[in-house]
Amino acid sequence: MSTETLVPYDEALARYEPVLGIETHIELGTTTKMFCGCATEFGAEPNTQVCPVCLGMPGSLPVTNRAAIEGIIKIGLALNCTIVEWCRFARKNYFYPDMPKNFQISQYDEPLCIDGYLDVEVEGETYRVEIERVHMEEDTGKSLHVGGATGRIHGADFSLVDYNRAGIPLVEIVTKPIVATGDKAPLVARAYATELRELVRALGVSDVRMEQGSMRCDVNVSLMPKGASEWGTRSETKNVNSLRSVERAVRFEIERQAGVLDAGGRVIQETRHFQENTGSTTSGRSKEEAQDYRYFPEPDLVPMAPSREWVEQLRAGQPELPAARRARVTEEWGLAEKELRDIVNAGALDLIEDTIREGADPAAARKWWMNELSRRATEQGADLAELPVTPADVARVSGLVAEGTINDKLARQVFDGVLAGEGSPDEVVEKRGLKVVSDEGQLGTVIDEVIAANPDVADKIRGGKVAAAGALVGAVMKATRGQADAGRARELIIQKLTS
Ligand code: ZN
Ligand code: MN
Repeated sequence: MSTETLVPYDEALARYEPVLGIETHIELGTTTKMFCGCATEFGAEPNTQVCPVCLGMPGSLPVTNRAAIEGIIKIGLALNCTIVEWCRFARKNYFYPDMPKNFQISQYDEPLCIDGYLDVEVEGETYRVEIERVHMEEDTGKSLHVGGATGRIHGADFSLVDYNRAGIPLVEIVTKPIVATGDKAPLVARAYATELRELVRALGVSDVRMEQGSMRCDVNVSLMPKGASEWGTRSETKNVNSLRSVERAVRFEIERQAGVLDAGGRVIQETRHFQENTGSTTSGRSKEEAQDYRYFPEPDLVPMAPSREWVEQLRAGQPELPAARRARVTEEWGLAEKELRDIVNAGALDLIEDTIREGADPAAARKWWMNELSRRATEQGADLAELPVTPADVARVSGLVAEGTINDKLARQVFDGVLAGEGSPDEVVEKRGLKVVSDEGQLGTVIDEVIAANPDVADKIRGGKVAAAGALVGAVMKATRGQADAGRARELIIQKLTS
């Protein structure tokens, strides 16, 4: 269907400089909606969480949700924004079947949070993404197009509308133009979305699940010839709903727009849709300008004037944010930069920290999650956090190793059992009989047999070559199927042969 000529990425970047802009919508996890008392639970029966206010019935009046305003102020503060002393809601007028009022209550020229920034890291380099504004608005409902092959309205037999989502508090975060990222543009876009998601998750104000739509990114991309001072026309790819897709959408738009410009064409200012299956974007509607929405101050709501005391109280209550946390664990665990990156990329930071909190030593916690369990997660094609093993289990296994009940080799078998659903680490140790054999009588018998079977090696040790004991320890381990206490076995072997 696509008739576009794409320019290979490296070639495009040799001639053009991309400029990005990212608008992110995040649904807040409040228990009630933005302007009414309706529940917000995801996945409820369609149209069961609605009332006259969020259905836009005549005469109904909105009331601002205080918890939502707290949520947006926390986000604004975490993004280093100024929280304004006075602002208003505005009506954004347009028709959409899933928006029963025919307008959205949003903020226009008077947003609540302005002028912030978020630092993101790409390949060891820090990029400061400046934040233009963070404003408060309400979500729309959802249309479901039935009967077509694509789920889009084209080709559908009929459409259904679910208003459960209409009126859920939505925070919109708008960056300033992101410039001078060169060929790192797709990675910077992805790193920004990743860091923003981590930040909002740490604040506990949204579950930020992109696959459920509680965080969605609109990605603006334009190109200008290298060295030019005037920016090109941008496209806006709407509702991109995974981190990987954010990266791919930017990449595709760079290749597509370079093709348009190379052919002497003009990039059209329009909204585009990202196609997950092909990694491409397709044309949507031509983009309207802000004035087309006929914004005006919302007459049904009083202005918002958050007191400085309230803002400072919220600032003081902010949790540790991801960047600070990463700096702290790097220090506390004595990590190299790459080790931290691997932990973060493996999604192991929470798991390791929880394991340490359950009593494990940091090095052991890291070792089990990053080596043994990461390997198993990869084998199963699962995320680490999805494995049926808890930080408490890992802490218990490392405790059993530390106290000498099991060794590393047996610990792996304990994980086999836990992952197979055989119970807690202690239960697996019990059921599989995995205790290290260190008691002198039992071990002594095995050692006598091993010495008898290896007279040459035994002679060497008798002659003073203590290093040769390693071979006998290996034989003891083999004979006990890994359950011997290797250190104790070594002591006993040398004792028997040299005293
Ligand atoms: Zn309602
Ligand atoms: Mn919006």
